[in-house]
Amino acid sequence: MERLLYFNGALVPEEEVRISPFDHGFLYGDGIFEGIRAYQGRVFRLEDHLGRLYQSAKSLWLTIPETRQQMAEAVLATVRANHLKDAYIRLVVSRGPGDLGLDPRQCPKPTVIIIADQIQLFPESLYESGLPVATASSRRPSGDVLNPQVKSLNYLNSVLAKVEAAQRGVPEMVLLNQLGHVVEGTGDNIFIVRNEMLVTPPRSAGILPGITRSVVMELARGEGIPVVEENFTVHELYNADECFLTGTAAEIIAAVSCDGRLIGDGRPGPLTRHLRARFMEYAANEGVSAYPGLSVI
Ligand code: PMP
Repeated sequence: MERLLYFNGALVPEEEVRISPFDHGFLYGDGIFEGIRAYQGRVFRLEDHLGRLYQSAKSLWLTIPETRQQMAEAVLATVRANHLKDAYIRLVVSRGPGDLGLDPRQCPKPTVIIIADQIQLFPESLYESGLPVATASSRRPSGDVLNPQVKSLNYLNSVLAKVEAAQRGVPEMVLLNQLGHVVEGTGDNIFIVRNEMLVTPPRSAGILPGITRSVVMELARGEGIPVVEENFTVHELYNADECFLTGTAAEIIAAVSCDGRLIGDGRPGPLTRHLRARFMEYAANEGVSAYPGLSVI
């Protein structure tokens, strides 16, 4: 079936989407994006994703032509137009076409694209067994270099870590910051479990503040599970009781070894399994419906 994309204000067939070679998103990675999921026709935490998008835009002096309300409607319309119930939605706002210089003032019209498709980040078997991970040799840039809180189109840091993952024979990498603190995965946040308490790096460590991360923190606290935002080193990761990663694409997945050291007993731990089940149940029942008034099941 022909895929329809939202492209600068209208839903158009994929083949009709034309992006200028002078678009600064293409030339310089000058732009931002969001990855969003829909579960059973309901778009999960759309408000939060749009909040993060517009915050990233503000940091980059990027004026998004759509209002938040228009953008929310565009996301829902794209899911609907592709008849999707479970979807992975990619929303990209790039600086738009300009000249060959860097100056964004030469780019009067940002390019806005929404794609609704499907994604499976890791094979199902890895959700059962958990992931072996390794620490990446390149560090996350600190907030005064390229603020990781801005979800910019520049993902080279994560791309290089993915290349290294393949070389080291693991599906995912963990990145450290300049101080040697554990920060996050290539596209996901990280938690460890220590004495039945969840520990996750604070924003100031240089993380992207994940929507899944904040939902997991909320769900855990709602059940009386303590959560602290605290820096930890790779030594503490090796010696944690459990570890898991969270992200829109990855959802919740256990990490069961790091740099060859088993984490806990080397299997997804009880708290990780519980939170994954709790999250999946919550996600299926929350969100903004793309099919209002209709049964989406
Ligand atoms: N960190 C990075 C670097 C990411 O790209 C993502 C995915 N957006 C996350 C964390 C997780 O964020 P979220 O839960 O909002 O998808």
